[in-house]
Amino acid sequence: MREGRISLGNVRCDGCQRTITHAERYLTVDEEDGVEVEKGEKSFYCIDCSLQKGYAEYRGEKGEKGEQKLTFFPGDIQSPEPDSEVQSPEPDSGETAGQKKNDE
Ligand SMILES: [Zn+2]
Repeated sequence: MREGRISLGNVRCDGCQRTITHAERYLTVDEEDGVEVEKGEKSFYCIDCSLQKGYAEYRGEKGEKGEQKLTFFPGDIQSPEPDSEVQSPEPDSGETAGQKKNDE
């Protein structure tokens, strides 16, 4: 599954390998062998990579302000979920992103 998050500045994109800077939106995706699964290895993608991989898209009316909404989901996001069980990267841990590099 995928989950949109806000970077706290210590997230590395698994696509282009760049650091996703503070307050930038990014996406976590459970993947296995590069395929999205319900439960798997967490990958982190910046907006650009998310768009490229089809994990995110801009939708909505680009009218008056020329602004579009970015969504990480095929459907529309209607109700924001409480993020109580979201384990966001904490600034003091500094090792949250991409720490899982266990060999098989
Ligand atoms: Zn990227």
